[in-house]
Amino acid sequence: MSSGTLFIVATPIGNRADITERAKDILAEVDLIAAEDTRHSRSLLQYYHIQTPLVAYHDHNEALKAPVLIEQLQQGQNIALISDAGTPLVSDPGYRLVKEAHEKGIRVSPVPGVCAAIAALSVSGIATDRYRFEGFTPARSAARRAHFETLVKEQATLVFYESCHRITASLLDMVDVFGGHREALLAREMTKSFETVRKASLNQLLELVSGDLNQQKGEFVIIVQGVVAEVVQSDLIEVDTERLMQVLLEVLPVRQASEISSKISGIKKNKLYKLALKLKSSD
Ligand code: SAM
Repeated sequence: MSSGTLFIVATPIGNRADITERAKDILAEVDLIAAEDTRHSRSLLQYYHIQTPLVAYHDHNEALKAPVLIEQLQQGQNIALISDAGTPLVSDPGYRLVKEAHEKGIRVSPVPGVCAAIAALSVSGIATDRYRFEGFTPARSAARRAHFETLVKEQATLVFYESCHRITASLLDMVDVFGGHREALLAREMTKSFETVRKASLNQLLELVSGDLNQQKGEFVIIVQGVVAEVVQSDLIEVDTERLMQVLLEVLPVRQASEISSKISGIKKNKLYKLALKLKSSD
């Protein structure tokens, strides 16, 4: 018997009209829908008049549930995976199921649609040619700051997910670590009644959110501009390779001096070996 297909189906992030015709067709046609929260998804499916049976698949049962779903797929059933909002597996459950499906040679097919990160990028007016999706920030401030520190020199645009519990604290840490003048975008409650899309400096976004309780409610994407190339350049310390080699040769043999200066400068070892020999002979 040939296996069924595992469809990964995107659902809306707020406005229920944001779903594709194909997504509705697939959800109505499959044998089973695996959903993160069956109560939440039942109400969405009722809205579209879809009566396909639902089964729970979330972070806490995926180790148990994935093998069961894989077996059903192997028996020829078609299954759709959905999450509470947007695209499954994007900061949402599904990784184990998709990985195991590939390992078992089961067809995995996307039914693409909304994703909060992409929606926010599309309205950001910040470079989208290169972006780095960071998902949720660490819950504790010390870990969050340490994480932001690792991103301070990132040139690609940064994309973060944030919840209402941490939005103010997270923006405060961003101001401290990235600097208050960094350009950013706050996308709150996208596609819902009280949507906020605001492009401003991190300082201004912190002011907006901390000064208005309504702006602290809901779901958030924060986009932060990457550091501009010239800033990174000016931070780099130029190494005078010939001078470095002269100093190393005072205490080290030629081979070792070439190896170390190659590691520091990134220049090929044999090229530096020749330079070392030349410097030695002109002593
Ligand atoms: N899988 C989803 C996707 O494709 O974007 C993301 C799921 S993740 C559990 C939920 C987070 O996505 C929220 O905390 C928020 O950061 C972001 N998000 C989801 N819906 C949003 C919306 N309507 N407006 C702003 N951010 C949203």
